Amino acid sequence: MPETLLAPYACDPARSRGRRYPEPPAPTRTEYQRDRDRIVHSTAFRRLVYKTQVFLNHEGDLFRTRLTHSLEVAQLGRSIARALRLNEDLVEAVCLAHDLGHTPFGHAGQDVLNECMEGFGGFEHNLQSLRVVDWLEERYPQYDGINLTFETREGILKHCSRRNAEWLETRERGGVGQRFLLGHQPSLEAQLCNLADEIAYNAHDIDDGVRSGLITLEQLREVPLFDRYRAQALEQYPQLGQTTGRRRLLSEAIRRMLSDQVYDVIAATRAALGAHAPADVDAVRRLPALVGFSAEMRAQSRVLKRFLFQELYRHPQVVQTTDRARQVVRELFAIYQADPRQMPPAQAASALEGDAQTRARTVADFIAGMTDRYAAREHERLTGQRLLG
Ligand code: MG
Repeated sequence: MPETLLAPYACDPARSRGRRYPEPPAPTRTEYQRDRDRIVHSTAFRRLVYKTQVFLNHEGDLFRTRLTHSLEVAQLGRSIARALRLNEDLVEAVCLAHDLGHTPFGHAGQDVLNECMEGFGGFEHNLQSLRVVDWLEERYPQYDGINLTFETREGILKHCSRRNAEWLETRERGGVGQRFLLGHQPSLEAQLCNLADEIAYNAHDIDDGVRSGLITLEQLREVPLFDRYRAQALEQYPQLGQTTGRRRLLSEAIRRMLSDQVYDVIAATRAALGAHAPADVDAVRRLPALVGFSAEMRAQSRVLKRFLFQELYRHPQVVQTTDRARQVVRELFAIYQADPRQMPPAQAASALEGDAQTRARTVADFIAGMTDRYAAREHERLTGQRLLG
């Protein structure tokens, strides 16, 4: 969308708060397009292909990975952004980067790493995503990280503890940590990415869950939000009720659910924008969150989330694999902590030269960057035990 068609409350790259290290503008691309391109070319982005969403990477070729999840989030985010005249390039950049800090093995990996880092500042995957783009990527001669704009970094840091926000403030006064101390919101583009993430995983986890056989279409009948679309699809296409039609029934019901949720967000957000009429993005930041579902859709989405939590994320088969994944991460951390030379030379040097805090953080950064299969192989190399794959 040409920048002239943006709504007044959208982020305009010409009025960006800029980069940590100022750079001359690019001849043909806006600042947010550049951010998007830097993210796509990053090492961390390529690793997302081998990182778990719910199912471990080796469990099946058709399940979502962090990469395909991120692409789906970006696609949903852009559709909604265009309808609301928000900045599509910024939404795409934030959506593609939102999971860059995820550990191997999904939430299980992050929880264990957080336990291991107790006493060393803990581990938060949102803050880790920011660490990746601010410090850990090694691509430019003149600085660490990929030097993204304030607005993209603001969107990437979607949650942050008070302690970490205070720490960020000491490094960058008035920066991306400040809003957590002031109780402010991020831009509408950032708010949108957060919701697009939720819409995407609710839908694709149903799809992957049913495909894996861990949940069934029959069980999903207790979820009104999904069952409504299943019934609609069957009414229009009765042949989908046959065994051979079940795959298409699943896709059609999910497609209808996604569309309705997208239109719901657009309508509810337009209403909120109409009521508050923010003059610009700084006004947006001082208002309550404006991007969201209608109250009814919010309630129904919560029921779906609860269902997925109980029936899929806590399914004995999923729990069994994630227990092994926890063990892998816990043992890797202990081994590298005790003997940093087991890491590649750069990490080993940094861990050996630094204090206890630096050593632990170096180990956490190294493990967080691993793909599922790299972590499993490293664990096997170091312990002789093959727990996964
Ligand atoms: Mg996500």
